[in-house]
Amino acid sequence: MPSTISSKSLLPDRPVLRFAPSPNGRLHLGHALSALTGYELARRLGGYFLLRIEDIDPARSRPKFIDGIFRDLEWLGIRWAEPVWRQSARFACYDAAAARLIEMGLLYPCFASRAQILAAAVPGAVDPDGAPLYPSLHHALPADAIEQRRSRGEPHVMRIDMAAALARVAPQLAYGSLSFTAFDAQLRHQTIAAEPARWGDAVIQRKDVPTSYHLSVVVDDAAQGITHVVRGQDLLAATDLHRLLQTLLGLPAPAYHHHGLIRDSNGRKLSKSLKDTSLAELRASGLTRADVRRMTGLT
Ligand code: GLU
Repeated sequence: MPSTISSKSLLPDRPVLRFAPSPNGRLHLGHALSALTGYELARRLGGYFLLRIEDIDPARSRPKFIDGIFRDLEWLGIRWAEPVWRQSARFACYDAAAARLIEMGLLYPCFASRAQILAAAVPGAVDPDGAPLYPSLHHALPADAIEQRRSRGEPHVMRIDMAAALARVAPQLAYGSLSFTAFDAQLRHQTIAAEPARWGDAVIQRKDVPTSYHLSVVVDDAAQGITHVVRGQDLLAATDLHRLLQTLLGLPAPAYHHHGLIRDSNGRKLSKSLKDTSLAELRASGLTRADVRRMTGLT
């Protein structure tokens, strides 16, 4: 197990930023923009820059993509403070955080298949990622039914009971403190109200691993003392759910910068799964870091 001592306690009073890629494809220009923006901001603020490998997905993470991340970042001239955390080594920490939410009565098991959810979903009711809002199929399963299904080894996820979670943070909601600080490239900041309700009863622990992107990211941002999160605009709405989890778990909230997305000539956002031009290919084609900076819109 990695040390549980947080970087914050070791490195007091210094900004801490991170780049947190998932090694399930090759990095592309959008990742270069996130990494360079975070790295340069860390230097400007006199802070630390960390690299965290978000390899919670056993089916999609590949060692070759982790090697590629190191090579790409080195090529871009980015340096990070060691150690590099790998989320696959921290499942017990995420499970412990989930256990606290379960103790608070805020997570419940859901055995429904994707097809069952689709069939029961309200047409047009979708979460910010465009997935059908969970139609509360297994929200109130009786304890003996849960026990039976569990003892048969039926796979299940753990979902957040959004209504109960919102009731729990009602004071923060009422006083507007379920919000986050968003900052731009000039470090001007504003407060944005978080609206976690739009995620419905989101999955907090997946079927295959005892966590989800949302749970691991808030646990690790807190454990590593991250003060400023830099990531793409596609994760802006997820911040609402992150603020809810941070509030429930008593974790501090970093400030957030969500940069614009780099799109291809058809206006489509770049994606690892769609095999968009990777940094490795750009490098092999003879482009330089300066070219990459220009292509990401950095001057
Ligand atoms: N691991 C996430 C991704 O590669 C990014 C997480 C974050 O920056 O919050 O999309």
